[in-house]
Parts: sequence; structure tokens; C-alpha cells
Amino acid sequence: MTDPLIAGLREIVGDRHCLTESEATAPFLTDWRGIYRGAARAVALPETAEQVQAILQLARRHGAPIVPQGGNTGLSGGATPDDGGKAIVLALKRMNRIRSLDAANNSLVAEAGCILADLHQAASDADRLFPLSLSAEGSCQIGGNLATNAGGINVLRFGNARDLCLGLEAVLPDGSLFSNLSGLRKDNTGYDLKQLLIGSEGTLGVITAAALKLFPKPIARATAILALSGVDKAVSLLARCRAGLADQLVSFELLPRFGIELGQKHVPGLAWPLAVLPDWSILVEANTSSPAFDLQAAFEATLAAALEAGEIADATVATSDQQSRAMWRIREGIVEGQWREGANIKHDISVPVAQVPRFLETAGAALRAAWPQVRILAFGHLGDGNVHFNLVQPPDETKDRFLDRTPAMNAIVHDEVQRYGGSISAEHGIGQLRRAELELRKSPVELDLMRRLKQMLDPENLMNPGKLL
Ligand SMILES: Cc1cc2nc3c(=O)[nH]c(=O)nc-3n(C[C@H](O)[C@H](O)[C@H](O)COP(=O)(O)OP(=O)(O)OC[C@H]3O[C@@H](n4cnc5c(N)ncnc54)[C@H](O)[C@@H]3O)c2cc1C
Repeated sequence: MTDPLIAGLREIVGDRHCLTESEATAPFLTDWRGIYRGAARAVALPETAEQVQAILQLARRHGAPIVPQGGNTGLSGGATPDDGGKAIVLALKRMNRIRSLDAANNSLVAEAGCILADLHQAASDADRLFPLSLSAEGSCQIGGNLATNAGGINVLRFGNARDLCLGLEAVLPDGSLFSNLSGLRKDNTGYDLKQLLIGSEGTLGVITAAALKLFPKPIARATAILALSGVDKAVSLLARCRAGLADQLVSFELLPRFGIELGQKHVPGLAWPLAVLPDWSILVEANTSSPAFDLQAAFEATLAAALEAGEIADATVATSDQQSRAMWRIREGIVEGQWREGANIKHDISVPVAQVPRFLETAGAALRAAWPQVRILAFGHLGDGNVHFNLVQPPDETKDRFLDRTPAMNAIVHDEVQRYGGSISAEHGIGQLRRAELELRKSPVELDLMRRLKQMLDPENLMNPGKLL
């Protein structure tokens, strides 16, 4: 007998785009890191917002949960269904058209399944910049970026996904279409409803398209690696860079010695450009789209003043795009190195920027007191107060034994985060990974408000159940 839900899905998206065979569905049922595995009744690949509406209405009639999935690069298990086998995974990858680009308004309208790197190219072709940038940009989709409020390396200057969105089109759990793609820069007619969906991790609806901000394309960039005299100097160095480079400062990334060593161990060809490998370094980048601004002069003057003030002990400035890319490969090598070294216990945290050095010190001390052999790898977007405070499996401990320590290590790190008024998830969201922690760390008033919003929009709890709340 034909399953009426599957028959309905086939009617909406066509046979080829409704997957039920295990070989075809397998890639959609596990996450990027292979930590979560789930089951689904089907994977549906719609091509239009109307098809998404029809699928949500059909799913509602059958009481079937919907799990939206973008590029499946999320690090919190948000796009993986549970193992109940009842869900429909809604993969947006066929909705990949750029509907319009308005150079005068500095905006474009893209469907949710557009790959982030393709948006960069489209903006660049129009002599514009779409600044959201993260290592997963060749695979992640703009719908997923908005659903997770992605950050990345340019947040310092341009903000995160939330700040780059002018409007959304989304299908709500009852199948109705919310659409606000006018690209208006100013609209004070009540609640900003798009912001509810941004960062909601697929629990309040399916984003089908977005109006996004574009910026003038940079014509020059300056990149440098700076050896910090001590991690406590990072905050005054950041303030100096902001003062000297103003809006041209785009990235301020913390690089630890241990991370660079891991990169050099596991990634061929990563040459360190300074004479000495210090405990802490900064990768700083500025760019400008103005021919009137002498970026190189401002950059060098700022670094000279930092040397003079004793904030940095050494510096090297890239003299070509090739050298600049080599510096970024060192940053990316930290991520690759930690994965190749073994298992990780990850903490994607943020604290107020001025508190980062103190947090590193006290959280490190608390961890070492509990487990003297702990290997801490703290790196990332210091300019935003966002540190990836990860623990790396020691060579003399098995993966299972190491991962068994996760709850104890999480509690120590997140207690410290809370002490500084920080967040337990600065970029990667809550998904399945941090759901229990959210219960403990978010204020009861906020949790209650979140639950009431969820209940109002999705009373049957069919949108990505088991995630976030
Ligand atoms: C190597 C690597 C580097 C990374 N670096 C960063 C970084 O610097 N900064 C950062 O913020 N993140 C980073 N990430 C995490 C990840 O890339 C981001 O969270 C990204 O925004 C997820 O996009 P996606 O399309 O892959 O979404 P998915 O993983 O497919 O989904 C993520 C969540 O969004 C929901 N979702 C997806 N599409 C939609 C939609 N259309 N409508 C409603 N809900 C939807 C899913 O249900 C899920 O809950 C990195 C990941 C990797 C693997």
C-alpha cells in the first residue's frame, strides 16, 4: 500500500526529488562531524516557496515533523533528524536562484539554498561585496547562515548574518508565506518579524529567500601577523587598531602557539613568518574601498605605535595577496590541525571583549585544577569577544575516555563564561548539542518567552522538534 504522506510529497516535488531509499537519504541523516545520526521518512527537495508551503501543510495533516537542512555544515546537530524515523528532512539546495541584484540599493535577493560562496561571486560580479565569510562558505547556504545567525571572520566590521539581512521570505508552520523582500533600509511599522526567524535554527519556520545587504567592493587590503607581548595586551592592541584603522578594520583573530604547532604538524607547508613563535599572536586584517584612504600608511603607523607601546614584540605585514592568503592558511590550519590531532571538546563562547584575557586565565586555571593534563586550544574572533575554547584529546588517552570528560569540562568552562556575563554559544547555535545547557544558563524569563513564541507559531511542535528548546 502506498504511504499517503510519501505519495503527497511525490506529487508536490516530483518522484526524483522525494528520496526514500537509504542510500539516497544517508547523507542527509548525519551531521558534518558525523556525531549525530538520525532517521527520516523521506528527504524532500523542493524547488519553490509554494512547494515548501504545500509540504508543510501536508506534513501538518499527517503530524510529521519537518527538519530544514541547508548545507549541513552546522556544528550543533540542528539539521539532523532524531532517530524516530517520522520526520521529513526538507533540503533547500534546489532553491538556489539569485532572484535580483539592485546595485543602487546595494542589495540582492537570494533563495535560501544559495551557497554562500556563490553569493560572494554574484556580489563581486556587480562590483560589490557580500561580507559574511566563514571557512564553510563553499558548502553552507544562506538559509542555514540566517537560521544560525552565522558569524565568521568579518563580524568586527560588518556584523553577523542578522546585521546583513534586510528582509526575509519564510514559510511558517501553518503553511502561510511571510514575505518581506522589499530591501527597505528603514521600516518602522512595528515588530521586526524577520529577526524572530534569524537564529531560530529551523524551529519557527522555513526560510525560503532573503534580501541581503551589499557593500562597496574593497580595492585594497592589508594583512599582518603580530606577536603579542602577552595575551593581556590584546585588548589595548584592538583599541589601537580600531582607532588607527577605524571602519577599515575587518578581522582581529587570536592565534595560540599550540594551535599553530598543531597546524604545522598536520597541514603541509604552513610556514610561520616571524623569527620566533610566541605564545599568542594576532592575525589582523583591514581593507578599504576608498581610493582616498592610504590603507598601507595607516596600517603601518598603527603597528609601529603598537610596537612602541610594547603591545607587540614583532610584526610582519603581507606584501602581496599571496602572502596574505598564506597568513590566513595559518589561521585555517589551526582548525584542521585540531581535527587531525584527535577528538575535541568544543566551547564556542563569547565574553565581553575586555574580559577575554582574564577569561583565558581563569578558565584555564580552573580546567587545569580539575585535570592537570588538559590541552587547551583557545583561538578565534577576539575582536568580537568570541573564542573557540576547545580541548584536544591527549595522545595518552583514548577517545572514549577523553569524551567522557565532556560534561565535567563543559560545566567548568560554562561556569566561567557565566561569571563574565558571556554566552555559551557565540556562533554555532544550540541545536541538539547545547539544549540541556541552555536550560541551565538562560534566564527563566527568556526561556519562557522563547517557549511561548514557539507555542504560538508552532503549537503542534512540528518544526525541527528536539532542537534549541
Ligand atoms: C569548517 C567549518 C567552519 C565553520 N566556521 C564557522 C564560523 O566561522 N562562524 C559560524 O557562525 N559558523 C561556522 N561554522 C558552522 C556552520 O557553517 C554555520 O552554522 C552555517 O551557518 C550553517 O549553514 P548550513 O547551510 O550548513 O546549515 P545547516 O547545517 O544545514 O543547518 C543549520 C541549522 O539551520 C537550520 N536551517 C538550515 N536551513 C534552513 C532554512 N532554509 N530555514 C530554516 N532553518 C534552516 C537547520 O534546521 C539547522 O538547525 C563552521 C562550520 C564548519 C564545518
